[in-house]
Amino acid sequence: MFEGKRGLVFGVANKRSIAWAIASRLAAGGAQLAFTYQGERIESNVRELAAGVSCPLVTGCDVRSDEDIERVFGEVGDIFGGELDLLVHSVAFADAEDLEGRFTDTPRERFWMALDVSAYSLVACARAAEPLMAAAGGGSIVTMTYLGGERAVPHYNVMGVAKATLDSSVRYLAWDLGQKNIRVNAISAGPVRTLAARSIAGFPTMEAIVEERAPLHRHIDAGDVGAAAAYLLSDDARNVTGTTLYVDSGYHAMGM
Ligand code: NAD
Repeated sequence: MFEGKRGLVFGVANKRSIAWAIASRLAAGGAQLAFTYQGERIESNVRELAAGVSCPLVTGCDVRSDEDIERVFGEVGDIFGGELDLLVHSVAFADAEDLEGRFTDTPRERFWMALDVSAYSLVACARAAEPLMAAAGGGSIVTMTYLGGERAVPHYNVMGVAKATLDSSVRYLAWDLGQKNIRVNAISAGPVRTLAARSIAGFPTMEAIVEERAPLHRHIDAGDVGAAAAYLLSDDARNVTGTTLYVDSGYHAMGM
């Protein structure tokens, strides 16, 4: 399905990362993938995982840094002949303190930091990907969101506000980049136990409520998200853009 496709993946921290589940699907379908990692602490994890797939580049990137983003897309352009087909954005961060107490108490600096890492980074990456994807005749971008951007989910707090910004950014990016046959979509995933999930104080409650109230009464796993992303990134979804695909056992459809 992805034979001859070239992709760039942001957001692998370890083998439990949703980004890794997506990357595994793309690699199994024949894609060549470049990976970024944030910080030396997780570099070795990412290099180890990348060694198991067709991967010509592993490079550091803090998405808050415009210089890092420019360098990464420069490197990607060099290894992929100035072209790129697929972009996976699976990055988010908020201070753990802001995922515990009241949203009302979020300080200004940490509010902007959460939005910068978790929402603006998609805009910056899409802009940098645009010329490479245009050179390839088009491309597909997928990001990861959560229902907490549309409804108030206790403890999700500033991350919910960041996801609302991300969701809206998906629609505006889809409009701008559609002219160049670049598609932009989001997947809204139900709770998955990952490194990022561990910092959400109410995570076990979120899981329990999904099991109790979702139409399918079961949890999703990262592989479910990988499969959905593979669809959105594939040519099967060539006329799908600006949308959110829910992979949450149907929980979003419920009123109570
Ligand atoms: P994860 O911890 O494995 O991935 C988060 C990634 O963000 C990490 O690789 C981390 O290095 C990266 N990151 C954080 N700050 C960064 C920065 N400044 N620069 C570059 N990278 C940075 O956790 P995950 O659950 O796989 O999260 C991936 C995405 O999925 C996030 O957007 C998250 O909000 C979203 N999501 C997760 C769940 C869930 O239940 N796990 C549900 C819905 C959506």
